[in-house]
Amino acid sequence: MSTTHEPQGLLGMKPEEIAAVFAELGQPAFRAKQLVEWVFAKRAASLEEMTNLPKATREALATRFVTRTMSIAKVTGSRDTTRKFLLKLRDGRYVETVLIPANPALYGGASDRRTLCVSSQVGCAYDCKFCASGLAGFTRNLTAAEIVEQIVQVEAYAGERVDNLVFMGMGEPLANFSNVTKAIEILNAEWGIGIGARHMTVSTSGLAPQIKKLADFPLQIRLAISLHGATDEVRDQIMPVNRKHNLAELFEALDYWNQKRKQFLTFEFILIANVNDSLPQAQALAKRARSANAKVNLIPYNTVDGLDWVRPSEASQDAFLAVLTNAGVTATLRREKGHDIAAACGQLRLKQETELGIIESPIPAKRITIGGGAG
Ligand code: SAH
Repeated sequence: MSTTHEPQGLLGMKPEEIAAVFAELGQPAFRAKQLVEWVFAKRAASLEEMTNLPKATREALATRFVTRTMSIAKVTGSRDTTRKFLLKLRDGRYVETVLIPANPALYGGASDRRTLCVSSQVGCAYDCKFCASGLAGFTRNLTAAEIVEQIVQVEAYAGERVDNLVFMGMGEPLANFSNVTKAIEILNAEWGIGIGARHMTVSTSGLAPQIKKLADFPLQIRLAISLHGATDEVRDQIMPVNRKHNLAELFEALDYWNQKRKQFLTFEFILIANVNDSLPQAQALAKRARSANAKVNLIPYNTVDGLDWVRPSEASQDAFLAVLTNAGVTATLRREKGHDIAAACGQLRLKQETELGIIESPIPAKRITIGGGAG
């Protein structure tokens, strides 16, 4: 066994893991408890602040732990609007996280809550054709500490608590399963951040095997599916993941989820003109939503630089919604630009990295040709 260790982010560690390192370092167990309190309850940003730990202990700990793994590089927006935080990681990479204020006019169950939209990866490998996050490809998974710290950084900056979390930022959370579920446990724990499991939503592009695995995860978190196509023909065009896990496989996993879980699923459905906004698509979506007992969140496509998709007219958005409601499906349609959670989060992109020359500017390949009246 090697004697040198990469220092671990304390915000991503459970008390028993911290205790194990203390035992290794020959430090008494009660000190590990004190450390956990400093990290989570008191949110200490440095070991120096932990004044009831002897200096020698703090020095020993510094060889194994770091309290922070990122810094806020830039904040855009204001207290009353969505605020985007650009966070710089220890390896010089960046991720974004978005704080959406409490506002009764907003999205579904998040109405009177301050919601934070967190990232789970640097970049994304799934290449959804409408999404800004994947334009520069995939770099790496975030650690559990880096996921938890997004909340801690934002709360410290904003001076307010976040009470709702959505994993709708950059990345595919279910492709980073172990770090995301560990982060959720820490975020939920009494000794940790203390956010109720029902106030956390994992959003996935449809990784069927991992959906089943998540159904067996004990915490009662919510699940949102980025559906965006109600037939394989349409979904194949805009979400390459569908060629790996098609709708039959996805819905089989959702059946499994529903057997294990009481909470409603949410389907996210971005409306894109002439791609997935036809009335037959709406009918197919209604059928699927009923079969999976899902609510539908319609999101008019938000323009992404470099992508030439078009948002449908308000009349066709309304017609699409009417098909769902008439079929007895609970559906919402939000038009306020950039205010919808999924839309605000879906536009995260590492502009900063391209500006700084850390990664090459993503030149979007010619996107697919839009066939008339798809679906
Ligand atoms: N990979 C996960 C988590 C990212 S979620 C997932 O796919 O669910 C990001 C949300 O924003 C998704 O619902 C996504 O479909 C949506 N989104 C992405 N690009 C968008 C755009 N241009 N306009 C509106 N919503 C968008």
